[in-house]
Amino acid sequence: MAKVIDGKAISQMIKDEVKQKTEALKQEGIEICLAVIQVGNDPASTVYVGNKKKACAYTGIHSKSYELPEETTEEELLHLINMLNQDASVNGILVQLPLPAHINEDTVIQNISPDKDVDGFHPQSVGRLSIGQRGFLSCTPAGIIQLLKRSNIEIEGKECVVIGRSNIVGKPMAMLLLRENGTVTVCHSRTKNLKEICRRADILVAAVGKPKMIDSSYVKQDAVVIDVGVHRNENNKLCGDVDYDSVFPIAGYITPVPGGVGPMTIAMLMNNCLEAALMQNGK
Ligand code: NAP
Repeated sequence: MAKVIDGKAISQMIKDEVKQKTEALKQEGIEICLAVIQVGNDPASTVYVGNKKKACAYTGIHSKSYELPEETTEEELLHLINMLNQDASVNGILVQLPLPAHINEDTVIQNISPDKDVDGFHPQSVGRLSIGQRGFLSCTPAGIIQLLKRSNIEIEGKECVVIGRSNIVGKPMAMLLLRENGTVTVCHSRTKNLKEICRRADILVAAVGKPKMIDSSYVKQDAVVIDVGVHRNENNKLCGDVDYDSVFPIAGYITPVPGGVGPMTIAMLMNNCLEAALMQNGK
């Protein structure tokens, strides 16, 4: 039977560490500020933005909120980003995705100053990760590395399989596992023999975006199974990409949904805001 990795407890620990360091910076006269931009009123985005603001309040990070109407033009959004880039009192800029269809997300991400890119999506942050330089890490995969490390799960030399190759989860996850000296395989929708490859994994990360797709037939006995997926099932209950009930009896470790990877993303965002303030102050 698997040990359950408690993402809620670990994320709380990280938020408390950020809070402490934020307080210490305040003593030196440095206040951390995150600008959060939401365009339109997609209900899921409103919930995410609300949770990010709550985490800021908890950790002592000042948050500035920009709620723009759905019909905001790309030019108007870029103008705001440019102002925030130049505002020395703002350490981090977060644009909640997805954006309305008439705004190009890549253009928006590329216009955020790489020094304030607390989501870690800017090409410069991605490049820094891939060549091993200090920079902002994409929050969800960075959170998964923390879940593994703080559960004393060794990554070095382990067979790591990541299912999914998105820019925000799969690819940075693979780079981070590689950086920790794992032996990494990345799978996607064109992968042949997916089950066989997954069954080789000591650490299996499911970021496939398909509810409960990964059942016990994908999992080696005692493997560590990390579930990134978030879905609502037919009863409106949250579930992941992993079929928890089927995998739980054979895995060594497993993350639940909710309460696994999810809470880590916001904790790592807070950590990135702290990192932004440290870097901008030459620390
Ligand atoms: P995504 O952009 O939809 O990417 C899904 C990936 O899975 C793609 O690379 C796709 O391959 C691959 N895939 C799809 N069907 C497959 C199949 N049958 N076999 C093998 N690979 C398959 O999703 P994402 O943004 O990475 O997110 C993944 C999941 O994590 C979603 O459920 C999302 O809601 C969740 N998520 C959670 C958090 C959190 O904080 N907990 C954060 C972000 C995302 P191709 O590239 O070939 O299409």
